[in-house]
Amino acid sequence: MVKFTNGDSVEVTTKDKTFSGIYIESNKKDVVTIKLSSGYNIGVNKKEVKKIKLVKKNKKEKTVKVLNVNKGLKKISILHTGGTVASTVDYKTGAVSPRFDPEEIINMFPELNEIATINSRLIGNIWSQDIRFVHFNILAREIKKEIESGAKGIIITHGTDFLHYTSAALSFALKNLPVPVLLVGSQRSSDRGSSDAGMNLINAVYFAVNSEMCDVGICMHNNMNDDYCAILPGLKTRKMHTSRRDAFKTINTKPWALVDYRKGEIKYVDKSFNKKVNGKLELNLFNEKLKIGLLKSTINMDAKQFLFFKNYDGLVIEASGIGNLPTSVLDRYTKDHKKIFNALKILTKKTVVVLAAQTIFGRLNMNVYSNQREMQEIGVLGHLNDMTPETTFVKLSWLLSNYKKDAKDLLFENLKGEINERLMSDEFLDESF
Ligand code: GLU
Repeated sequence: MVKFTNGDSVEVTTKDKTFSGIYIESNKKDVVTIKLSSGYNIGVNKKEVKKIKLVKKNKKEKTVKVLNVNKGLKKISILHTGGTVASTVDYKTGAVSPRFDPEEIINMFPELNEIATINSRLIGNIWSQDIRFVHFNILAREIKKEIESGAKGIIITHGTDFLHYTSAALSFALKNLPVPVLLVGSQRSSDRGSSDAGMNLINAVYFAVNSEMCDVGICMHNNMNDDYCAILPGLKTRKMHTSRRDAFKTINTKPWALVDYRKGEIKYVDKSFNKKVNGKLELNLFNEKLKIGLLKSTINMDAKQFLFFKNYDGLVIEASGIGNLPTSVLDRYTKDHKKIFNALKILTKKTVVVLAAQTIFGRLNMNVYSNQREMQEIGVLGHLNDMTPETTFVKLSWLLSNYKKDAKDLLFENLKGEINERLMSDEFLDESF
């Protein structure tokens, strides 16, 4: 059998179809990976392959190395943490599993080496739902190490489900950040024809090389097409769809920029990101032992649900509307709501209780209804909160880790761009970007 090497033009024929594209070397013994002319990579199970025809030999016949020192190009470090972006389809079971080696992803997207000198390193291989505070600290330390070794930008590949927690955590943990840090995920694994991994990753590297932004952002598809990505603020973005490639949307703000590496274009929408500051990069890490809860309010609640958190260090509650909880006794059926109010009283004495908007968009205003005023009187925080519940959770955790005494006062001070003082109408599900 002909031995194919990276970059060869090939035709792969299966029982149903013929795929033409560029052969990509892979460590997976049971899969043939090729890059289609659309830019997508596709993995075909070797068992299904009838024939692979060599159309044109790649003249260079060279495998891209993990560290491709391309003189004159900026050094960018890609740190891999796991998630769909770093996983492959297991063709036996059809399930996606986190198997992946960092060299492989660079081989899959050779365009990266035209844009930057890439250093690709695996620092973990976990799903994002398994993340704990300790992982934020590991990641922050690795980022610092890369920057101190000369990286001019950091890209982190990450599972998408809780990617916005990590982007928020790093936004707080990295002080005096001198380079861009971008988190990238994908909704389809990198070896699938429909994967969004390549576009997200290459656009992230392109932006990191060409922007003055020194902040933590997210780079994901901007819409359903495969044309450009959005650079989204790490503290004001949320995964808003289970499966769409443009699942990440800004909440109460606009994307920072749109990027299309193929056209060589960066269009800034809102330059509210942090730029380079004087001062040494410092880490303000998370207390790994903290216990912080996030409770969603519903109808028909009882006091026990609240009291469950009495030994926690902090609690975020997703309140309804502009900041309501079921604390009003209005008829004989709602008598137990007094118990909920009393439970909140106990909680606020023992821990920090802060409300965030269950509606996701908008800002709380706890001065409107009498039940809200009563909550404020017993120390429930949240008035004027426009942070997502997730950013509120991360900020509360970070403040309790670093500024325990002042945590309550700092919660609603805009420290890193997490609070937008003036919300605009085009910041609500605006499709025009
Ligand atoms: N649930 C997994 C995670 O967040 C896979 C989803 C994904 O990466 O898109 O890591």
